[in-house]
Amino acid sequence: MKKFCLSAQTGLMLLGSLLSALSGFAGSVKNQALHGQPGDLNKIIAKYNMRGMRAVRPIPSDSQIFKRLFDLSLTYGHAYKRLGELCKGVGPRLSGSDNAEKGIVWAVDMLRGYQFDTVFTQPVMVPRWERGDVEMVRLYSTVLTQQLKSGKTEPDYNCEAFVEANPLPKKYYDLQACALGGSVGGSVKAAVVVVNSDAELEAKGKAGLLKDKIVLLNRAFDQTLLNTFQAYGGCVNQRVNGAAPCARFGAMAVLVRSMSNRCDLHPHTGVTHYVDSVRKIPMIAVATAVADLLESVSASDPKHLVEIRLDCKTWPDRQSANVVASTKGTVYPEKIIAFGGHFDSWDEGEGAHDDGAGCMHAFEALRLLKEIGYTPKHTLRCVFWINEENGLRGGTEYARLAGTLGEEHVAALESDRGGFVPRGFGVDSAFIPKLAKYQRWLDAYGIGEIERGGGGADIGPLKKVNPNTVFVGFIPDSQRYFDVHHAETDVFENVNKRELQLGAAAVAAMIYILDQELD
Ligand SMILES: [Zn+2]
Repeated sequence: MKKFCLSAQTGLMLLGSLLSALSGFAGSVKNQALHGQPGDLNKIIAKYNMRGMRAVRPIPSDSQIFKRLFDLSLTYGHAYKRLGELCKGVGPRLSGSDNAEKGIVWAVDMLRGYQFDTVFTQPVMVPRWERGDVEMVRLYSTVLTQQLKSGKTEPDYNCEAFVEANPLPKKYYDLQACALGGSVGGSVKAAVVVVNSDAELEAKGKAGLLKDKIVLLNRAFDQTLLNTFQAYGGCVNQRVNGAAPCARFGAMAVLVRSMSNRCDLHPHTGVTHYVDSVRKIPMIAVATAVADLLESVSASDPKHLVEIRLDCKTWPDRQSANVVASTKGTVYPEKIIAFGGHFDSWDEGEGAHDDGAGCMHAFEALRLLKEIGYTPKHTLRCVFWINEENGLRGGTEYARLAGTLGEEHVAALESDRGGFVPRGFGVDSAFIPKLAKYQRWLDAYGIGEIERGGGGADIGPLKKVNPNTVFVGFIPDSQRYFDVHHAETDVFENVNKRELQLGAAAVAAMIYILDQELD
């Protein structure tokens, strides 16, 4: 106890001598304040200001900036309500569609309403593919019908889709499937051959087993991978490049197991590519539960058939646009920090997570920084890139213009992993040491997971133009992203307001750090 008193006394003495070491104004403050007259300090400051001293507004600390951004986003956020307008008022925004153009008009109007320094568009020619009216994948299997009649199929509650499936015996079964983006149309009726790996494709192809058949590319997500983007990366080549090898072995069409962790009845579309010198055959995504069903039917019923009818068409390119809103920098107005997402989506669902959420993160980040009164050193640019899904023309044109106009991008951030709870960022290795002084605040808001290497599809082309740009990718939790990615389930209802607003504040906080730390 005694020791404590001595320490406290010593502490006070030290504080006293420290204060008396300060001269003039500080000294008088000390005397007044230490004599316990609350309110005197304000009077003294007011007196000094009246004598002509400029009132200096204290510069907020990093922690205060973080708090203001998160508090504002979580209480009076705009990202969620604007995403609702985009998803429900405009809907899906496939490149080249009338709806995408309607969305761009909405975006320009919306951004202009906030009086950012500039809002402008960059014209971009984009491809135009249409799904068409006819989209049918029908299974004929007497064995399945017999099984259903005799009640031999067991309920499988391990599959999330079982309760939705309600299987009843029928003459034929219309399957949950959708054309992949860019697919040709056509009519095919044939048996299904299941292929689970590249090696199996090669072996079955060389054995002549794929000729005149429908191939089911059935490699499933590796469920042990915690980062679901790695699971996606391990499977997506069968969707993107599966057409040519199957056609070379004489296949009539390809069904691709949907890119998802879930077992359900929602097919997931996405881009597919052809090789010009190889015959183009219909490419179709089937729901994961449908892929499982086809695997079992093709094993148990050698006489089964699948009939496909598609009406897809590709039209000439059409003019569309990137949309940009910016706040001018006060120290380096000619240097740019760009951040955004892609404005186009697939035609299934509403492009809510992919990538309406990323666009709204970026817009909201620009708004939050403006709203809290932050004056950026660099010019801050929120960008909605067009045509990421099936061409990357928006990102490519953005970079080309940056090169032509001699624009220097000191940093570029992309959000294209959905509007889920934020976890952190992927950041160029060279910039990671600069984050050390902010780490405690990043951790405090749950966004402190920093991965080496940052980027995104749309900002990738900038690398060639501005090799020194710091690239950053926003990383939210990935566990549920592939439940909805490119599917009819990617709708506004499946976006959580709080998670989206947290993501927007996280992006704003990272833009603040980049603006502070870069020259
Ligand atoms: Zn995307």
